[in-house]
Amino acid sequence: MYSLNENYLKLPGSYLFSGIAKKVAAYQDAHKDADIIRLGIGDVTQPLCKAVIDELHRAVDEMANADTFKGYAPDLGYDFLRHAMAENDYRNKGCEIADDEIFISDGAKSDSANIQEIFGNSCKIAVCDPVYPVYVDSNVMAGRCGDYDEKTGMWSNVIYMPCTAENGFAPELPSQTPDLIYLCFPNNPTGEVISKDQLQGWVDYANKVGAVIIYDAAYEAYITDSSIPHSIYECVGARSCAIELRSFSKNAGFTGLRLGATVIPHDIVISKTAIGKENVELHSLWARRHGTKYNGAPYIVQRAGFACYSDEGKAQIKEQVATYMKNAHYIKNGLKEAGYTVYGGENSPYVWLRTPDNMTSWEFFDYLLDKANVVGTPGSGFGPSGEHYFRLTAFGSYENSVRAIDRIKNM
Ligand SMILES: *Cc1c(COP(=O)(O)O)cnc(C)c1O
Repeated sequence: MYSLNENYLKLPGSYLFSGIAKKVAAYQDAHKDADIIRLGIGDVTQPLCKAVIDELHRAVDEMANADTFKGYAPDLGYDFLRHAMAENDYRNKGCEIADDEIFISDGAKSDSANIQEIFGNSCKIAVCDPVYPVYVDSNVMAGRCGDYDEKTGMWSNVIYMPCTAENGFAPELPSQTPDLIYLCFPNNPTGEVISKDQLQGWVDYANKVGAVIIYDAAYEAYITDSSIPHSIYECVGARSCAIELRSFSKNAGFTGLRLGATVIPHDIVISKTAIGKENVELHSLWARRHGTKYNGAPYIVQRAGFACYSDEGKAQIKEQVATYMKNAHYIKNGLKEAGYTVYGGENSPYVWLRTPDNMTSWEFFDYLLDKANVVGTPGSGFGPSGEHYFRLTAFGSYENSVRAIDRIKNM
C-alpha cells in the first residue's frame, strides 16, 4: 500500500488565485451584466514584440529542415543564450558572471521552487512577509517548515521578516540565523525596492553567517531609479553567497512561452560536508540536478530569448515595460488623488495600497468587487504582514487602468 508525501497535506487551503477566481466567478454569476476589470493576477497582456516573433518564426523553420533541425537542447542551456545573458545582464553592467554560471530553465517559478532540493533538510529558511507563495510552499513540500498555525498564518519553522510601511518594506536582519534567505526586489507583492546599501548589508550578513541568498530578480526590468540595484552581483561578495533567479516573463512577456535562468557562481562553496567531501560547489549540485531532472528549454524558445538581447529586441522590450509603467503611474496617482495611501508603482508594475477604514484585505476585495467591479489581490494572501494591504497590477491595458481608477474614485 502506498503512502503519501504528507507534507503536501499540511499546505493550507487553495492557492490564493484560485480562491479569487472562485469569488469573481460567483459574483459574475450573480451579476450577469457586471463589467469586471481584472487588476489582480500578475500576468502580462501585451503580445510578444516583433523581434521575438521574427526569431520564433525563423527557429520554427529551422526545425523543418534536416540540416538545421535541433533535438534535445543541452541540459544547462544553449551557449548562445548563456553568453548573451552573461554579457548583457551582467558583464556589461560590471558584474562578474561567467557564461557557465548561467543555467537556462523554463522560468523562475520552477527554479525558485526547485532550488531548495540541493540543500539539506535541516536548513532553515527566512522569507519576507508578505511573500511570493512559492518559496514557502516548496519548502513545506520538502518538509522543512514545521507546522502551520491557522491563527497566525505562519509556519513554526520559518523565519518571517515583516515588510511593512514602518520599515519601508525592506526586511531587517533576523534575530534567528537562517540558512537560506529568499529576497525578491523589486518586490512582488509590495512593488517596493531595496537600496544598494541595504542589499550589500544582506550580502555581508549572509557571508558572515554562512547563509545563501536566493535573489529573485524577475522584475529588474521595471527599475527606473538608477540608484537601485538590478542584480545582487552588483554587491561586493555576492559571488560567494548569492543565487540569482531571472525570468523572461515580466520584461518580455514570456509568461506563456516559458524561459528563465538561475545564476550560481562557482564561488559558493561549502568547505566540508557531513559525508566528508570537501569544497563542494553549489554549482555542481544544480548542474547534476538539471542533468537528471530536466531536458532543457526548447530551442525555439531559447532563440526567442536570444532575440531579447538584439538592439531591436532591447528597444521593443523597453517600450513594453514603459507601457506597463504608464499604467502603474496612472493607478498610483489616481489612488492618491482618491485619498488612498499607496506604495510601489515606481520601479515595479505593482501598486500596494493600504486598505481604508482599517478594512481587512478580503473585506476590501469584496468591497472593491461589489462597488467598482474591480478585482485586485488581498495582501493577506501573501502573508500575515500583508493584512490591511491590497495589490493592484499595471499589467492590464491603459484603458482599463483608467476605467478602474475612475470607478474607484467614484466609489
Ligand atoms: C512572475 C514571477 C516570477 C516569474 O515566474 P516565471 O516562472 O518565470 O514566469 C518569479 N518570481 C516572482 C516573484 C514573480 O512574481
